[in-house]
Amino acid sequence: MTQRTNQRIAYYNGKYVPEGEVRIPYRDRSFLYGDGCFDMTRTFAGKPFRVKEHIDRFYRSLAYLQIDIGLTPGQLTDITHEVVARNAHLLGEGEDWWVGQRVSRGIKSVGEGMDPWEDMGPTVVVDCMPLPFKARAPHYRDGIRVVVPSVRRTPPGSLSPRVKTHNYLNMIMGDLEARDRDPESWAVLLDENGNLCEGIGSNIFIVKDGRISTPQGRYVLEGISRQTVIELARQEGFELVERDIDLYDAYTADEVFLTSTSLCLCPVSKINHATIGDGKVPGPVASRLLKAYSDYVGLDIAAQYLKRLD
Ligand code: PMP
Repeated sequence: MTQRTNQRIAYYNGKYVPEGEVRIPYRDRSFLYGDGCFDMTRTFAGKPFRVKEHIDRFYRSLAYLQIDIGLTPGQLTDITHEVVARNAHLLGEGEDWWVGQRVSRGIKSVGEGMDPWEDMGPTVVVDCMPLPFKARAPHYRDGIRVVVPSVRRTPPGSLSPRVKTHNYLNMIMGDLEARDRDPESWAVLLDENGNLCEGIGSNIFIVKDGRISTPQGRYVLEGISRQTVIELARQEGFELVERDIDLYDAYTADEVFLTSTSLCLCPVSKINHATIGDGKVPGPVASRLLKAYSDYVGLDIAAQYLKRLD
């Protein structure tokens, strides 16, 4: 039965509890080492988006990290829907949730003779939190300013960027550098070869002469919104390729946009010093894709943000 309470409810190791009761011990390996992974979908009008794709990606992350959570994808899907249902009464008019599945390898055993790999089994949390529409609304009006920091994205040979792990330090270092240059900017890192890669929570696309390009899947987290845009762009008749994109391509592009679960698709106005196209956003291709995305999810994506502008 749905508990009616003013505190959000989260799933925590087999139980549905008020968020404040999710207390992770400090010897948890995700806290100690970032040893875990997560995934994150969002709702549209309260309904979670592409849950199957997110859960499938999450199980690929778990498989890569060799963590067995003892739940089937079907069970985790049911838990995800249950968390959303238990919090539905807290969702305000026009608001939506981020919904996350989070797993740590477990709590580290310490002490003489203890095997540090022997843990108490994985910690599993499923939670939801409100999307930050107001804070991000100006991006739909003005476009996002992207800064490319000097720090490179972790190469696939070190730790696959296709896995959504609990260790975001590589991209946090990029963000810190970008924010130092422009506090409102979003960082998009280069890969080990100097091609554009991705940001802390977003994939990047460029448009030149009506042709859309995005970095190859091998170097990035293959975003579910990235995949959605790829599908919609092809349905709309655009040519779309996954390829290496360098800064020359980006500076001379007609349009650039980012995709992410929260944003879906949001135009970029500048990359470093370079104004993209005529600087007006969204450009014609981004506009068409935003409309296609909005039609697909049954909600005007940009309007949901722009309504929050003062
Ligand atoms: N890259 C990274 C590193 C991310 O964390 C995210 C956010 N999950 C994305 C790309 C975009 O993925 P999605 O569209 O699934 O949110």
